[in-house]
Amino acid sequence: MPITLPTGDDHSDLRDAMRDLCSTYDDAYWRRVDDERGYPEEFADALTKGGWLAALVPAEYGGSGLGLTEASIIMEEINRSGGNAGCVHGQMYNMNTILRGGSPEQKKKYLPKIASGEWRLQSMAVTEPTTGTDTTKLKTTAVKKGNDRYVVNGQKVWISRIQHSELMILLARTTPIDQVQRKSDGLSVFIVDVKQALSSGMTIRPIRNMVNHETNEVFFDDLEIPAENLIGEEGRGFKTILAGLNAERVLIAAECIGDGYWFVERAKKYGSERIVFDRPIAKNQGVQFPIARAHVNVSAADLMRFKAAALCDAGEEFGAEANMSKLLAADASFEAANACLQTHGGFGFAADYDVERKFRETRLYQVAPISTNMILAYVAEHVLGMPRSY
Ligand SMILES: Cc1cc2nc3c(=O)[nH]c(=O)nc-3n(C[C@H](O)[C@H](O)[C@H](O)COP(=O)(O)OP(=O)(O)OC[C@H]3O[C@@H](n4cnc5c(N)ncnc54)[C@H](O)[C@@H]3O)c2cc1C
Repeated sequence: MPITLPTGDDHSDLRDAMRDLCSTYDDAYWRRVDDERGYPEEFADALTKGGWLAALVPAEYGGSGLGLTEASIIMEEINRSGGNAGCVHGQMYNMNTILRGGSPEQKKKYLPKIASGEWRLQSMAVTEPTTGTDTTKLKTTAVKKGNDRYVVNGQKVWISRIQHSELMILLARTTPIDQVQRKSDGLSVFIVDVKQALSSGMTIRPIRNMVNHETNEVFFDDLEIPAENLIGEEGRGFKTILAGLNAERVLIAAECIGDGYWFVERAKKYGSERIVFDRPIAKNQGVQFPIARAHVNVSAADLMRFKAAALCDAGEEFGAEANMSKLLAADASFEAANACLQTHGGFGFAADYDVERKFRETRLYQVAPISTNMILAYVAEHVLGMPRSY
C-alpha cells in the first residue's frame, strides 16, 4: 500500500504516523523479543502492510517513491520509540541494487513483489571471514557454465536476516583478481533465491552475537544460479553494489539518531526523578552535563544526516556527507548510550530498564555496516586528498 504524504512539510505527519504504529510495540515487546532471541514478526508485518518498507521503491513498481529524507525519518522513529530497525532495514535499501543495476525485466519481476512484501529482500552477502573489510579480495567465486548458469563456491560471514528473506544479493568474483586491471573489476552481483539455494548447495549457520540480530555464516558448495540472475554487467558488480551503500549509510545514521534521542530522553527522565542525597541526581552538573553534551552531539549529527539525505534527494553527489553522517551519528548515539547507562547507575544494567539492550544495539554501528576507521580512511583519501593508507 503506497503511502501518500503532503509535500514541503516538516514531516510531522510522517512522524505522527510512525509514532502511532510504533506505540503498539512497546518496551515490553522489544524486551521479550530480545530475551527470546526471536524475530519481531508482528512488527515487521505491520511495517510491511503499512507500506513503510517500500518507501524508496518508485511508484511505478508499487512503492511510495519517497525520498531518502522520508525513509530516514521512518528508520529514526523506529529506534526513537525504543525499537530496533536493524531487524528490517535491509528490506528498505537492498532493493537499491536492483533499482540501480537491474535490467527493465529484473525490475519488473522483483520490485513490485518487494514493494508488496511478498518477497523479502532483507539480505546482502558481501563480507567474508578471511578478507573482512578488504572486500575486493573476497574469495567466493561464481564461474559461468555454458550460457545459462553460474556455479558458486565459497563462504560468507555475518550475513543478516537470511532466515527472514526470500531473496539475497550476493557479491562474488567472476574473474580471478590476477586477471583484472583494477582489483575492483571482476566482481559480479547476483540475486539468489534463498529457498531454492538452501536445497541445492547453500547452507547457513547462525552466529549467536551480542545483539539480538539474526546473522549467519553462509557456505556455497557448487550452488548453481541461473545466468539471468546476474544484476548489471558481469565484472562490474562492485560499482553496482556500491551505488546503494551511501543510502544505507544515511539510513543507519538515522537509526543512530533515533537511538541517541531515546537515550537522552531516558537519561533526562531518570536523572530528574531519581532522588539520592535528598535531591534529583540530575541537579548535579556531573550528571547533567554528559546528558546535555550527548544531546548537542546527536543534534549536530542530525543536521549532517538531513544534509546527506537532501543532497541525495536532489540527485547530487552525497558520498562524503553519507559517510560523515554515519560516523557522527554512530559516535553520538554511543556517547548518549554511555551517558544514559551512567545516569541509571546499577539500574542501567537491569534488563527491565531497556538501557542495556539499546546500549548493545547501538554499539554495533561503530563496526557495521562500515567501521569508523574505514570512514575516516575514506574521508582522508577521497575528501581531503591524502595518500591511500591501504
Ligand atoms: C551483527 C552484524 C551484522 C552484519 N551484517 C552483515 C550483512 O548483512 N552483510 C555483510 O556482508 N556483512 C555484514 N556484517 C559485516 C560487517 O560489515 C563487518 O563486520 C565490518 O565491515 C567489519 O569487517 P570485519 O568484521 O571483517 O573486520 P576487519 O576487516 O577484520 O577489521 C577489524 C577492525 O580493524 C580495523 N581495520 C582493518 N583494516 C584497517 C586499516 N587498514 N586501517 C585502519 N583500521 C583497519 C577495522 O576498522 C575494524 O575495526 C555484519 C557484521 C555484524 C557484526
